Amino acid sequence: MAIPTPRSPAVNRVVSLVEWAGIALWFLMVPLTAFVLLRQGLALGWLALLVLPALLLGALIADFASGLGHFLADNFFAVDTPVLGHLFIYRFRQHHEDQTIICQADFRETNGALCLLSLPAVVGGYLLLGGAPSLWALLVAGVMLAFGILGGMTNQMHRWAHDRQRPPLVRWMQRWGLALNPRHHSVHHARPHHEHFCIALGAMDPLMERFAVWHRLANLMRALRAPQAEESVMGDARATERAQWSRPQAQ
Ligand SMILES: [Zn+2]
Ligand SMILES: [Zn+2]
Repeated sequence: MAIPTPRSPAVNRVVSLVEWAGIALWFLMVPLTAFVLLRQGLALGWLALLVLPALLLGALIADFASGLGHFLADNFFAVDTPVLGHLFIYRFRQHHEDQTIICQADFRETNGALCLLSLPAVVGGYLLLGGAPSLWALLVAGVMLAFGILGGMTNQMHRWAHDRQRPPLVRWMQRWGLALNPRHHSVHHARPHHEHFCIALGAMDPLMERFAVWHRLANLMRALRAPQAEESVMGDARATERAQWSRPQAQ
Protein backbone atom coordinates (compact mmCIF):
# COMPACT_ATOMS: atom_id res chain seq x y z
CA MET A 1 0.00 0.00 0.00
CA ALA A 2 1.27 3.48 -0.91
CA ILE A 3 1.97 5.82 1.99
CA PRO A 4 1.77 9.63 1.86
CA THR A 5 4.84 11.85 2.11
CA PRO A 6 5.26 12.69 5.84
CA ARG A 7 4.18 16.19 6.87
CA SER A 8 6.66 18.49 8.55
CA PRO A 9 6.29 19.00 12.36
CA ALA A 10 5.22 22.62 11.72
CA VAL A 11 2.40 21.53 9.37
CA ASN A 12 1.36 18.85 11.89
CA ARG A 13 1.09 21.52 14.59
CA VAL A 14 -1.06 23.75 12.38
CA VAL A 15 -3.33 20.82 11.39
CA SER A 16 -3.65 19.86 15.05
CA LEU A 17 -4.62 23.40 16.08
CA VAL A 18 -7.16 23.73 13.25
CA GLU A 19 -8.72 20.36 14.19
CA TRP A 20 -8.99 21.33 17.87
CA ALA A 21 -10.60 24.61 16.82
CA GLY A 22 -13.09 22.66 14.67
CA ILE A 23 -13.96 20.37 17.60
CA ALA A 24 -14.38 23.30 20.01
CA LEU A 25 -16.64 25.22 17.60
CA TRP A 26 -18.67 22.07 16.82
CA PHE A 27 -19.29 21.44 20.54
CA LEU A 28 -20.28 25.10 20.95
CA MET A 29 -22.54 25.39 17.91
CA VAL A 30 -24.41 22.05 18.09
CA PRO A 31 -26.10 22.69 21.49
CA LEU A 32 -26.63 26.36 20.64
CA THR A 33 -28.36 25.53 17.35
CA ALA A 34 -30.38 22.74 19.00
CA PHE A 35 -31.52 25.22 21.67
CA VAL A 36 -32.60 27.84 19.09
CA LEU A 37 -34.34 25.10 17.06
CA LEU A 38 -36.25 23.99 20.15
CA ARG A 39 -37.21 27.56 21.05
CA GLN A 40 -38.51 28.25 17.53
CA GLY A 41 -40.30 24.90 17.52
CA LEU A 42 -42.12 25.77 20.75
CA ALA A 43 -43.21 29.07 19.20
CA LEU A 44 -44.72 27.21 16.21
CA GLY A 45 -46.80 24.77 18.27
CA TRP A 46 -47.75 21.32 16.98
CA LEU A 47 -46.50 22.12 13.45
CA ALA A 48 -43.01 21.87 14.93
CA LEU A 49 -43.45 18.07 15.07
CA LEU A 50 -42.67 18.14 11.33
CA VAL A 51 -39.07 18.76 12.35
CA LEU A 52 -38.78 15.07 13.30
CA PRO A 53 -38.83 13.82 9.67
CA ALA A 54 -36.51 16.72 8.80
CA LEU A 55 -34.01 15.49 11.43
CA LEU A 56 -34.31 11.96 10.04
CA LEU A 57 -33.70 13.23 6.51
CA GLY A 58 -30.59 15.12 7.65
CA ALA A 59 -29.26 11.98 9.35
CA LEU A 60 -29.86 9.88 6.23
CA ILE A 61 -28.13 12.45 4.01
CA ALA A 62 -25.15 12.37 6.42
CA ASP A 63 -25.13 8.56 6.24
CA PHE A 64 -25.10 8.74 2.43
CA ALA A 65 -22.31 11.35 2.53
CA SER A 66 -20.28 9.04 4.80
CA GLY A 67 -20.67 6.26 2.23
CA LEU A 68 -19.72 8.56 -0.64
CA GLY A 69 -16.57 9.82 1.09
CA HIS A 70 -15.59 6.28 2.11
CA PHE A 71 -16.23 4.92 -1.40
CA LEU A 72 -14.07 7.63 -3.00
CA ALA A 73 -11.26 7.25 -0.44
CA ASP A 74 -11.18 3.47 -0.88
CA ASN A 75 -11.21 3.48 -4.66
CA PHE A 76 -10.01 6.71 -6.20
CA PHE A 77 -7.28 9.33 -5.87
CA ALA A 78 -3.76 9.04 -4.47
CA VAL A 79 -2.70 9.09 -0.83
CA ASP A 80 -0.61 12.17 -1.67
CA THR A 81 -3.68 14.21 -2.66
CA PRO A 82 -3.25 17.60 -0.91
CA VAL A 83 -4.97 17.78 2.51
CA LEU A 84 -7.43 14.93 1.84
CA GLY A 85 -4.64 12.37 1.34
CA HIS A 86 -3.48 12.50 4.97
CA LEU A 87 -6.85 13.20 6.54
CA PHE A 88 -8.99 10.59 4.80
CA ILE A 89 -7.58 8.61 1.86
CA TYR A 90 -4.57 7.05 3.59
CA ARG A 91 -6.53 6.34 6.78
CA PHE A 92 -9.25 4.44 4.93
CA ARG A 93 -6.73 2.34 2.99
CA GLN A 94 -4.70 1.65 6.12
CA HIS A 95 -7.95 0.67 7.86
CA HIS A 96 -8.51 -2.14 5.33
CA GLU A 97 -5.10 -3.58 6.16
CA ASP A 98 -5.50 -3.27 9.93
CA GLN A 99 -8.99 -2.63 11.28
CA THR A 100 -7.72 -1.95 14.81
CA ILE A 101 -5.63 1.12 13.90
CA ILE A 102 -8.78 3.25 13.91
CA CYS A 103 -9.17 2.48 17.64
CA GLN A 104 -5.66 3.73 18.44
CA ALA A 105 -6.24 7.29 17.16
CA ASP A 106 -6.78 10.00 19.77
CA PHE A 107 -9.95 12.10 20.05
CA ARG A 108 -8.64 14.87 17.79
CA GLU A 109 -7.45 12.50 15.08
CA THR A 110 -10.76 10.68 15.17
CA ASN A 111 -13.10 13.67 15.15
CA GLY A 112 -11.22 16.85 14.20
CA ALA A 113 -11.52 16.82 10.42
CA LEU A 114 -15.18 15.85 10.29
CA CYS A 115 -16.22 18.29 13.05
CA LEU A 116 -14.60 20.98 10.93
CA LEU A 117 -16.25 19.82 7.70
CA SER A 118 -19.67 19.54 9.36
CA LEU A 119 -19.49 22.92 11.01
CA PRO A 120 -20.86 24.95 8.02
CA ALA A 121 -24.09 22.88 8.13
CA VAL A 122 -24.55 23.54 11.87
CA VAL A 123 -23.71 27.26 11.56
CA GLY A 124 -25.97 27.52 8.50
CA GLY A 125 -28.83 26.04 10.51
CA TYR A 126 -28.18 28.49 13.35
CA LEU A 127 -28.19 31.48 11.00
CA LEU A 128 -31.42 30.29 9.34
CA LEU A 129 -33.13 30.33 12.72
CA GLY A 130 -32.08 33.94 13.39
CA GLY A 131 -35.30 35.56 12.09
CA ALA A 132 -38.95 35.33 13.10
CA PRO A 133 -40.28 31.77 13.68
CA SER A 134 -40.93 30.11 10.32
CA LEU A 135 -41.80 26.50 9.56
CA TRP A 136 -39.57 26.36 6.48
CA ALA A 137 -36.59 27.74 8.37
CA LEU A 138 -37.25 25.21 11.13
CA LEU A 139 -37.38 22.28 8.67
CA VAL A 140 -34.31 23.26 6.67
CA ALA A 141 -32.38 24.02 9.87
CA GLY A 142 -33.48 20.62 11.23
CA VAL A 143 -32.02 18.87 8.17
CA MET A 144 -28.80 20.88 8.46
CA LEU A 145 -28.42 20.31 12.20
CA ALA A 146 -28.95 16.54 11.98
CA PHE A 147 -26.53 16.40 9.03
CA GLY A 148 -23.97 18.41 11.01
CA ILE A 149 -24.30 16.28 14.16
CA LEU A 150 -24.06 12.90 12.45
CA GLY A 151 -21.49 14.16 9.93
CA GLY A 152 -19.26 15.35 12.75
CA MET A 153 -19.67 12.03 14.59
CA THR A 154 -19.15 9.76 11.57
CA ASN A 155 -15.58 8.71 12.34
CA GLN A 156 -16.55 8.12 15.97
CA MET A 157 -19.47 5.95 14.85
CA HIS A 158 -17.10 3.99 12.60
CA ARG A 159 -14.56 3.63 15.38
CA TRP A 160 -17.19 2.36 17.83
CA ALA A 161 -18.13 -0.31 15.28
CA HIS A 162 -14.58 -1.69 15.69
CA ASP A 163 -13.99 -0.90 19.36
CA ARG A 164 -14.40 -3.70 21.91
CA GLN A 165 -14.28 -1.12 24.75
CA ARG A 166 -17.34 0.90 23.69
CA PRO A 167 -19.73 2.22 26.37
CA PRO A 168 -22.99 0.33 27.16
CA LEU A 169 -25.08 3.20 25.74
CA VAL A 170 -23.25 2.88 22.41
CA ARG A 171 -23.87 -0.89 22.36
CA TRP A 172 -27.56 -0.16 22.92
CA MET A 173 -27.59 2.44 20.12
CA GLN A 174 -25.86 -0.01 17.79
CA ARG A 175 -28.46 -2.68 18.56
CA TRP A 176 -31.29 -0.30 17.65
CA GLY A 177 -29.70 1.18 14.52
CA LEU A 178 -28.93 4.54 16.15
CA ALA A 179 -25.20 3.94 15.60
CA LEU A 180 -23.26 1.85 13.06
CA ASN A 181 -23.77 -1.81 13.94
CA PRO A 182 -20.48 -3.80 14.05
CA ARG A 183 -22.00 -6.89 12.42
CA HIS A 184 -23.52 -4.79 9.65
CA HIS A 185 -20.22 -2.99 9.06
CA SER A 186 -18.22 -6.24 9.07
CA VAL A 187 -19.72 -7.00 5.64
CA HIS A 188 -17.59 -4.18 4.23
CA HIS A 189 -14.43 -5.70 5.70
CA ALA A 190 -14.99 -9.05 3.99
CA ARG A 191 -13.57 -9.32 0.48
CA PRO A 192 -14.29 -7.91 -2.04
CA HIS A 193 -15.12 -4.86 0.15
CA HIS A 194 -17.59 -3.46 -2.38
CA GLU A 195 -20.65 -3.16 -0.12
CA HIS A 196 -21.74 -1.34 3.06
CA PHE A 197 -19.70 1.83 2.57
CA CYS A 198 -21.97 3.95 4.81
CA ILE A 199 -20.23 4.35 8.17
CA ALA A 200 -22.38 6.80 10.13
CA LEU A 201 -25.47 4.60 10.61
CA GLY A 202 -25.34 2.09 7.76
CA ALA A 203 -29.06 2.79 7.23
CA MET A 204 -28.56 3.82 3.58
CA ASP A 205 -26.59 0.70 2.64
CA PRO A 206 -29.57 -1.45 1.53
CA LEU A 207 -30.74 1.34 -0.79
CA MET A 208 -27.24 1.84 -2.20
CA GLU A 209 -26.88 -1.86 -2.91
CA ARG A 210 -30.43 -2.24 -4.25
CA PHE A 211 -29.69 0.32 -6.96
CA ALA A 212 -25.99 -0.60 -7.37
CA VAL A 213 -25.14 3.04 -6.66
CA TRP A 214 -21.46 2.45 -5.89
CA HIS A 215 -20.88 0.28 -8.96
CA ARG A 216 -22.56 2.86 -11.18
CA LEU A 217 -20.51 5.62 -9.59
CA ALA A 218 -17.31 3.60 -10.02
CA ASN A 219 -18.11 3.25 -13.74
CA LEU A 220 -18.81 6.99 -13.98
CA MET A 221 -15.54 7.85 -12.21
CA ARG A 222 -13.61 5.58 -14.59
CA ALA A 223 -15.36 7.18 -17.57
CA LEU A 224 -14.26 10.56 -16.20
CA ARG A 225 -10.72 9.17 -15.96
CA ALA A 226 -10.50 9.75 -12.19
CA PRO A 227 -7.23 8.24 -10.93
CA GLN A 228 -8.12 4.81 -9.57
CA ALA A 229 -6.38 3.43 -6.48
CA GLU A 230 -4.07 0.45 -6.98
CA GLU A 231 -5.94 -1.35 -4.23
CA SER A 232 -9.37 -0.25 -5.55
CA VAL A 233 -11.91 -2.52 -3.94
CA MET A 234 -14.36 -1.92 -6.77
CA GLY A 235 -11.65 -3.21 -9.11
CA ASP A 236 -11.55 -6.31 -6.93
CA ALA A 237 -15.29 -6.55 -7.04
CA ARG A 238 -15.35 -6.32 -10.82
CA ALA A 239 -12.73 -9.03 -11.08
CA THR A 240 -14.74 -11.24 -8.73
CA GLU A 241 -17.91 -10.63 -10.71
CA ARG A 242 -16.16 -11.41 -14.01
CA ALA A 243 -14.81 -14.63 -12.51
CA GLN A 244 -18.30 -15.59 -11.41
CA TRP A 245 -19.81 -14.83 -14.83
CA SER A 246 -17.14 -16.82 -16.65
CA ARG A 247 -17.23 -19.76 -14.23
CA PRO A 248 -18.81 -22.80 -15.93
CA GLN A 249 -22.20 -23.56 -14.43
CA ALA A 250 -22.43 -26.89 -12.56
CA GLN A 251 -24.64 -29.33 -14.45
ZN1 LIG B 1 -13.44 0.68 3.16
ZN1 LIG C 1 -14.31 -0.26 9.30
